[in-house]
Amino acid sequence: MSALGEHARFDAPATAAARPGRVTLVGAGPGDPELLTLKAVKALRAAQIVLHDSLVDAAVFEHVPRTAHRIAVGKRAGRHSMSQRAIIELMLRLARGGHPVLRLKGGDPFIFGRGGEEVLALTRAGIPFEVIPGVSAAQGAAACAGIPLTHRDHAAALVFATGHLRGAGDDARTVDLDWALLARPRQTTVIYMGLAALPQICEQLVAHGLPPDTPAAVVERATCTDQRTIAGTVATLPALAQARGVCAPALIVVGAVVALQRTLGVALRPHAPPARHAA
Ligand code: SAH
Repeated sequence: MSALGEHARFDAPATAAARPGRVTLVGAGPGDPELLTLKAVKALRAAQIVLHDSLVDAAVFEHVPRTAHRIAVGKRAGRHSMSQRAIIELMLRLARGGHPVLRLKGGDPFIFGRGGEEVLALTRAGIPFEVIPGVSAAQGAAACAGIPLTHRDHAAALVFATGHLRGAGDDARTVDLDWALLARPRQTTVIYMGLAALPQICEQLVAHGLPPDTPAAVVERATCTDQRTIAGTVATLPALAQARGVCAPALIVVGAVVALQRTLGVALRPHAPPARHAA
């Protein structure tokens, strides 16, 4: 397997082949390589060219043949990487050249993975594709941290949102979300890409009516051997996360179900140190 590095250019043919290659979008799961589906492993074993994101565990590549080309196109906070447009162009160029392409993404390709944009581009170009779902970070975090995302007594709805900061310059950066929706009672809210905006997110949730003592947690590196859960309330979580030096990738989970983690977290992961609580 040859790893071509983040900025490497694969020498794809400029001319179109008689038949385009098929593109397979594969969800690699949230971290633990054993959470790959059988279908994903089968696709990885047959791969010739793999375009992959940065959040994919190295052990996942053990399924990829040594002869396959591996191209890192991933984004990692604060590091320069290929633009989404360039990734799509490379994928189209390879497929048009007749190469089957495996597009490997962290978690599930259709949950904050920009898989939607990629398959739309493939559809427009008339390139055949397949999507193999993966375990999303929220599901991995729920299972491994002991936070059932729904519960008859506590949460009848589940919202996945992105806390990605928008705007240029540090002062202008804001999270643009439907806060009233996210602050609704009897609901669990999971926020992806929200760590940098955690103080702003918690502040807005309270400003829109969520009681400040609502349980909330950050789950860092969910499903990985070094997973950490920092649990508190929407009022206390930003300071706790900062004090514990939480790093990406991390998810924010808000809602009454988070309190169950106190009981379930320890029971589920007997070898992991229990999370420190400050409610
Ligand atoms: N498609 C992915 C999400 C990609 S967006 C999925 O379905 O999971 C990237 C964000 O996902 C990160 O910023 C983080 O919020 C979350 N994430 C991915 N892997 C994670 C992990 N192992 N633990 C916690 N959060 C994770």
